[in-house]
Amino acid sequence: MSTMKVARLFGPNDLRMIDMEIPKLGAHDVLCKVERVGICGTDYAIYTGEFSAIKTGDVKFPMTLGHEWSATVAEIGADVENFKVGDRVVGDTVVACGNCNYCLLGAYYRCKQSQAVGTINAWDGAYAEYVVMPERHLFRLPDSISFDQGTFVEPAATSLYAVKRADVGTGDTVLVHGTGPLGVLAAKLSKLCGASKVFITGRKKFKLELALNFGADVAINTLEESFVDVIAEHTNGQGVDRVVEASGSIELFTQSLEVIRAGGNISLVAFYEKMAEQVEIDKFVFGGITLRGVAGSLGMYPPILNLMANGMLNTRPLITGRYKFEDIEQALKDMKDKNTQRIKWIVEMPSSASD
Ligand SMILES: [Zn+2]
Ligand SMILES: [Zn+2]
Repeated sequence: MSTMKVARLFGPNDLRMIDMEIPKLGAHDVLCKVERVGICGTDYAIYTGEFSAIKTGDVKFPMTLGHEWSATVAEIGADVENFKVGDRVVGDTVVACGNCNYCLLGAYYRCKQSQAVGTINAWDGAYAEYVVMPERHLFRLPDSISFDQGTFVEPAATSLYAVKRADVGTGDTVLVHGTGPLGVLAAKLSKLCGASKVFITGRKKFKLELALNFGADVAINTLEESFVDVIAEHTNGQGVDRVVEASGSIELFTQSLEVIRAGGNISLVAFYEKMAEQVEIDKFVFGGITLRGVAGSLGMYPPILNLMANGMLNTRPLITGRYKFEDIEQALKDMKDKNTQRIKWIVEMPSSASD
């Protein structure tokens, strides 16, 4: 049996580059040779041990990080029907049982037996030369989408799910909190969903400028000005129709209740480690406001792949750094220090195909 290099996480701050056996393929499994893997803020939070699911025991060690990846099919199981060796692919963020009620209803993100790729109760992720995936969780990456861009399918799909859960539609005004990949993508995807004006908040000049170039209409630095005032000014005091909260800040969420119009929608797509205090519940009641949580990206891979293939979503400007696979731990260590300039970093695998 041949082996592969894996950046295996044995516990917080204990990443080791080791050789592991390439797993035997089940009949419906596909062996994917990883070409690129993006580094997610969640990866960093698991690496450092800050992630709340580590304290609850839901993240189990040892494990392999990496859920934003693009790959080439290297081998297929005996009964694989839809993929062949050489196909370019991206993968889902969960591997579910495929047989329970949730799975059969298509809501496989809720499957009780599901394993999240590279995070909670992990299915081994793509900080490795190879990933094994059941074919039902793989998506073909069209030739017109580069492997670089392929690493954005997962975050873009999650972001699109947040935009959809906020009910963004034609002519809507939208407030997005956060200038990380999910926030910046949410600004662009809101525009693609027909938003008339998108406000984005952040605290880093570089990221706010990038967001403006990428699709947001108004960038608000919350260290310098109040987004409540800026929005009141731009909307004649009407407020916004939709809010996508992608910053993880409870304060920004609660303050959003001051700018959302009656009947508006708010979606939350971040991790909140704390409890919210002083939330005016009455505002939800009398304003008829809808609040929705967003985990995963159910059904959003196909529209994102279509947007990318047709040139409507180009994520290249969001790549602000590159690392070699052997330097992957350095990349994780750099995450905090270089945060002001970082949107998305991409790791290139050894002997990976060029774009
Ligand atoms: Zn992620
Ligand atoms: Zn299931």
